Amino acid sequence: MKKVIIVGAGPSGLTAAIKLSKKYEVIVLERNDKIGKKLLLTGSGHCNYYNSDQDIKHYHSNNPDLIKELVNENNLNKVNTFFNKIGLVPKIKNGYYYPMSNQATSVNNALISECLNRSVKILTNEFVKSIRKNENTFEVETSNNKYTCDKLVLSTGSCAYPKTGSDGNGYDLLRSFNIPVTNIYPSLVQINCKKDKFNYKDWDKVRCDASVKLIENNIEIKKEVGQIQLTDYGLSGICIMQLSGLINKGINNNKKEQVEINFLPEINDLKQYLINRSNILKNRELEDLLDGLLNYKLVNLILKTLKISHKKWNELTNKEIDDLVNFISKLKLEVTSTKSFDNSQTVTGGVPLTEINLDTLETNKVKGLYLTGELIDIDGDCGGYNLTLSWLTGLVVGGQND
Ligand SMILES: Cc1cc2nc3c(=O)[nH]c(=O)nc-3n(C[C@H](O)[C@H](O)[C@H](O)COP(=O)(O)OP(=O)(O)OC[C@H]3O[C@@H](n4cnc5c(N)ncnc54)[C@H](O)[C@@H]3O)c2cc1C
Repeated sequence: MKKVIIVGAGPSGLTAAIKLSKKYEVIVLERNDKIGKKLLLTGSGHCNYYNSDQDIKHYHSNNPDLIKELVNENNLNKVNTFFNKIGLVPKIKNGYYYPMSNQATSVNNALISECLNRSVKILTNEFVKSIRKNENTFEVETSNNKYTCDKLVLSTGSCAYPKTGSDGNGYDLLRSFNIPVTNIYPSLVQINCKKDKFNYKDWDKVRCDASVKLIENNIEIKKEVGQIQLTDYGLSGICIMQLSGLINKGINNNKKEQVEINFLPEINDLKQYLINRSNILKNRELEDLLDGLLNYKLVNLILKTLKISHKKWNELTNKEIDDLVNFISKLKLEVTSTKSFDNSQTVTGGVPLTEINLDTLETNKVKGLYLTGELIDIDGDCGGYNLTLSWLTGLVVGGQND
């Protein structure tokens, strides 16, 4: 029986192992002493592993036209069949899939059990240092051993959250074969904002629902609605993380990146709304007028910054009213940077889709060498899309007949 080695026992590597075990002897080499360090952290330990909304807009690449070659109905059907086969039972909340147990361990255990059931060998504490291709075989050298195989799958992940084992060394292995890798930026990560308007400590740890526009060189390029977290360095929360990949790309291309926050997106004409409210709550101070609409920490920060604390609505000048309305519904902050790979859930960039046969995930440059997961230049939004890419690429490896 021909032998396949898979480097990395993350979700994409284990899925590929299960798929390929039908036809090959499969060995998975994992540098960590345990399996699933990153997977166990996903979804804050609950593992959001899929999403029923599989619109292509949730996926990003430097070759956007090629995404549909991978993320398409046929491959997504394979993913759903795979969940059934390995015994994953979903609890679906607003389209977001979690294991019924609500624990990421259930997903990790399902993968490991299926591998063991299929006689896949998973060897831990095996850090792959180098790979050499002979005419028809590969020589794989780890810190402890040497292995040979007929096919090799690189599933080392990216350099996001390096403490889990995926620290970017996979890119070096690729470069040793002259396989190009695009620029890599952190994605799904918090952002640092310019500290010129107010003291960010004053809003630290406030969570609220808001709409956020991403403005690049003064042009709106994306809008997200949802929860944001106000922090002492800037902003976090799903809404912000969704924008972070684009922000990083922009900053690295010397573009000016700003976010414009509307803290009360459900109110269309905020000025008129506040006039009506002030008519009902006559003679109340602004603190009382805004109480119940916004978090009190935010109210205090806004009034302090605009120097209108303890004033009443009818004492405000027209400029003060405009400033107040703009602060609440159009707060513009300049983004200076994002947090680093240490904090990012994924990356944008990877091996270009043009360098891979998208029916089999074999690299164009090296016959018999396949790629899965975050090594490939597609990334997804928050909401289970990155794990979807792990399952999907793991199942596509080798093509239809394997
Ligand atoms: C905090 C956090 C929360 C997340 N939450 C979600 C979520 O809820 N939903 C979602 O869809 N996505 C989530 N993600 C993203 C998701 O976890 C990743 O997209 C996914 O794990 C990538 O899978 P992978 O197989 O490509 O790589 P990885 O999971 O990174 O696995 C790669 C494996 O390869 C091993 N390895 C690396 N180099 C070598 C080497 N040289 N030799 C041997 N072994 C090696 C590593 O140790 C690692 O075990 C989250 C990520 C983080 C960091």
